[in-house]
Amino acid sequence: MSHCTIHLFRKGLRLHDNPTLLGALACSSTLYPVYVLDRAFLEGAMRVGALRWHFILQSLQDLDARLRALGSRLYVLRGSTAAVLRELVTRWGVTQISYDTEVEPYYACMEREIQALAQELGLQTYTRVSHTLYDVKRMVKANGGSPPLTYKKFLHVLSVLGEPEKPVRDASAEDFLRCATPVEPDQEQTYAVPSLADLGLEAEFEVLWPGGETHALQRLHRYFQSQGWVANFSKVRTVPNSLLPSTTGLSPYLSLGCLSVRTFYHRLSSIYAQSKNHSLPPVSLQGQALWREFFYTVASATPNFTKMEGNPICLQIDWYHDPEALEKWKTAQTGFPWIDAIMTQLRQEGWIHHLARHAVACFLTRGDLWISWEEGMKVFEELLLDADYSVNAGNWMWLSASAFFHKYTRIFCPVRFGRRTDPQGQYLRKYLPVLKNFPSQYIYEPWKAPEDVQLSASCIIGKDYPHPMVCHIEASQRNLGLMRQVRTEQQNTAELTRDVADDPMEAGLKRELQEEEEELLEGVEQHSTSKRFNGVTDHKSCPCSWTPETLQLSGEVM
Ligand code: FAD
Repeated sequence: MSHCTIHLFRKGLRLHDNPTLLGALACSSTLYPVYVLDRAFLEGAMRVGALRWHFILQSLQDLDARLRALGSRLYVLRGSTAAVLRELVTRWGVTQISYDTEVEPYYACMEREIQALAQELGLQTYTRVSHTLYDVKRMVKANGGSPPLTYKKFLHVLSVLGEPEKPVRDASAEDFLRCATPVEPDQEQTYAVPSLADLGLEAEFEVLWPGGETHALQRLHRYFQSQGWVANFSKVRTVPNSLLPSTTGLSPYLSLGCLSVRTFYHRLSSIYAQSKNHSLPPVSLQGQALWREFFYTVASATPNFTKMEGNPICLQIDWYHDPEALEKWKTAQTGFPWIDAIMTQLRQEGWIHHLARHAVACFLTRGDLWISWEEGMKVFEELLLDADYSVNAGNWMWLSASAFFHKYTRIFCPVRFGRRTDPQGQYLRKYLPVLKNFPSQYIYEPWKAPEDVQLSASCIIGKDYPHPMVCHIEASQRNLGLMRQVRTEQQNTAELTRDVADDPMEAGLKRELQEEEEELLEGVEQHSTSKRFNGVTDHKSCPCSWTPETLQLSGEVM
């Protein structure tokens, strides 16, 4: 069969391990690689900040350059996908549309539109799964028709399914020789990748994660050069506040499909095969790819996965509605340097370490502010380069103990968590320069610094940098009480995503983080038992929220 095909790139912006593209090339005599910049669709589905738009545009430029090197090119058009496709089909005499199958409901909706268009115009469609290791439908089927709701059950299903398929070969110049991309006279102007300014957005940031497959593969190569590091990787031992990422930093590329997850997974398998020992899921690097797969699988078959209401696996919690507190968290004005530095890095660079995400997510939700995980998810959606429908919501439910995570008595301390791996506060000094002159002793709790220290640091707390917005010990013990109550009332929902036996991630975490968490737990529990939760729901009524002296006291309890 010799089709004239439009290959529609959506995610999957790559030429390596692209089975849909390869299959389409094999059955076509003409192929137009197309990206429809359907801004209303994308921004209607998820918030997309300027930094991620920049990443997307760079990834398109890179894809265009790579296609040109093979004798083809990328056609970028703006508008509604269905309308653009309809026009192109007529203009180019198209007989087939190829695209990757995606799991998100909004992409599934678009796929239905493409299929309807194809039926109406008498076109073929050609589609393959390549954004996940497995076809999530197959996974759900293998689990008896519903998604495995714990990582342990998920690993069990995987053991039945066997290893994920190997990556397919790269698309080559020979493929494009056999299957031409026609040239149009005015194509340079008409189909060029727009700039950020063309989208009416501004770029005032340093780009640390340049978009595109080329950078993805370079980064993969760089990080995987150290086989010992890869083989011994244990997520819980990586450092959240190192000045360069202590994990691979590949998430932006995986999330947009500039890097194939199967390439990532099988490169790891070959490194493991050459190593005497290697770490295992859930903490190994392959284990990380499987967390991604786990959330994709659960999201694919859970209604309203990105919402609390109507989401059958999520605890229904009466979170506070407090736009002012949310804004302080979002704009790095909480008064806790560890939290504010992370939120600053997120805003400036679009990426933060997994445990840093833990810290700010716990603080916003069950730890301190008792604000809905959906609000945090939306902020991450806008600011993260790797923002991902399934993974973001899944992790937010986890961190807020709304689903998946059940040791809800473990609450991260916004002072001690960061200090543990960066006692000198280098990370805080970098992202919060206003605090850079504080001695290390005070940098995590500048409100404790005597006046003369604040003066010589040229930073007066309450004037140049805010006081802590809550008293952590008071807020966390009140929230602990609230959470305990919720979980007692909604035990059946809580049990859905919980293993009766020990959860493997828990086992890993238990070993690695026991010391800190137990100390912290003791602090909170001691405080809770000496002063029983009294059902106060106004979090601003915390008696020691605002004065440096009382915070100093509560800090010592921690
Ligand atoms: P590595 O440790 O090098 O892991 C390699 C890859 O495994 C990652 O790139 C990612 O694709 C996958 N992975 C790692 N950890 C997880 C995890 N916990 N869940 C699912 N997949 C994982 N990750 C996203 O890709 N997009 C998101 O929108 C996102 N939102 C998050 C929100 C919260 C509240 C939390 C706590 C975590 C979130 N994560 C998200 C998961 C995780 O923090 C990032 O994937 C990871 O930090 C990315 O850095 P890395 O590539 O160096 O990870």
